[in-house]
Amino acid sequence: MIKPGAVRNKHIGHILSKIEEAGYTIAAIKTTRLTIDQAADFYSVHKDRPFFQELIEFMSSGPIVAMVLLKDNAVEDFRRLIGATDPAQAAEGTIRRLFATSKSHNAIHGSDSDENAEKESSFFFSRQEYLRKDIVGTEES
Ligand code: ATP
Ligand code: MG
Repeated sequence: MIKPGAVRNKHIGHILSKIEEAGYTIAAIKTTRLTIDQAADFYSVHKDRPFFQELIEFMSSGPIVAMVLLKDNAVEDFRRLIGATDPAQAAEGTIRRLFATSKSHNAIHGSDSDENAEKESSFFFSRQEYLRKDIVGTEES
């Protein structure tokens, strides 16, 4: 998910380029805006953390871009592509290093396991709305 700060700063196009250049297929994509209750539901694992209120207020502060992405080893490689939670700690060339403005406004979210990727995909999309691996096809040469 591209977070509200990166959408406001007009980084959608740059971020999608990075994702495709890294070998991902965009299987589903939409712009939407989370209500505070939806943001709280999405990040419910963090409900007892001190930054939770700030997190859900930020995540519902403007439009986001939700995506389902396909690739082998997608979850682990995507964490490497986006970089550390705090952009100051994120490696050179990572999406957070390039486009995040702070630890709380850190440009992009990535699922942290295959199981959560499935859950988060169905949070935003119905099964009919995204391409499954078997119907994506291969690249043209
Ligand atoms: P995300 O789940 O958004 O991909 P992450 O997995 O790198 O990020 P988490 O530990 O899951 O990091 O935290 C969720 C989000 O909460 C972070 O992306 C960040 O915006 C915010 N956050 C985490 N730790 C802090 C903190 N100490 N102070 C402020 N915000 C924080
Ligand atoms: Mg996380």
